[in-house]
Amino acid sequence: MIILLFFILHWYLSLFGQTFYLHRYAAHKMFTMNKFWEKFFYIFSWVAQGSSYLNARAYAILHRMHHAYSDTEQDPHTPHFFKEVFSMMVHTGRIYNGLLKGTIKPDEQFENNYPVYPKIDRIGDNWMVRIAFALAYIAFYIVFANHWWMFLLLPIHFLMGPVHGAIVNWAGHKYGYRNFDEPDKSRNTFAIDFLLLGELFQNNHHHNGMRPNFAAKWWEIDPVYPIILLFDKLHIIKIVKPETA
Ligand SMILES: [Zn+2]
Ligand SMILES: [Zn+2]
Repeated sequence: MIILLFFILHWYLSLFGQTFYLHRYAAHKMFTMNKFWEKFFYIFSWVAQGSSYLNARAYAILHRMHHAYSDTEQDPHTPHFFKEVFSMMVHTGRIYNGLLKGTIKPDEQFENNYPVYPKIDRIGDNWMVRIAFALAYIAFYIVFANHWWMFLLLPIHFLMGPVHGAIVNWAGHKYGYRNFDEPDKSRNTFAIDFLLLGELFQNNHHHNGMRPNFAAKWWEIDPVYPIILLFDKLHIIKIVKPETA
């Protein structure tokens, strides 16, 4: 029970860091926040992702490239040029690392306007720190796991960020329905979106990349949007283009 709770908590907190901060804030700037909250959520995202820490600048550039080149050969993660998800993610990882280390120079249009905290990056990206997080997950399992199969969940903890990315990038451009006739192959994978906090409404999101609500039809639900509205009400963030409807 405790293990399941820990797994669910890590899954959704890490995902929240990715969708709320890295995706909707760092990459798209759908809302603004002051320096205190920017740094707070930077640290929050790091701790939530733990061993699979993602750098906000590299994530933002990679993601902006995805929107600009969606489902073409220049897209860093389209399922339409790969036979299976693993080789797609290896390709994505290569571009991410290239952007991180400076061996890939991004087009100027993708640069700037993302949060930069080199000191936090130095800690989060350090292999010793990543391993420390992994050891903490293992220790937690040793103390609380009461079935051997529970240990099979550990690799998901180690690679939480890329696991979410793989599901969203593969399923969201391959399975589901389309509300909007976009030039790419984006889809809404409604059936399993409750696992991905709105991220699987890819077709809606590609239709209007600045819209903080990833749901478009009345019966679609983006679980993160109410939190964004709440944070806006509490003056933690300010939505750039509030919805009039
Ligand atoms: Zn997409
Ligand atoms: Zn996006």
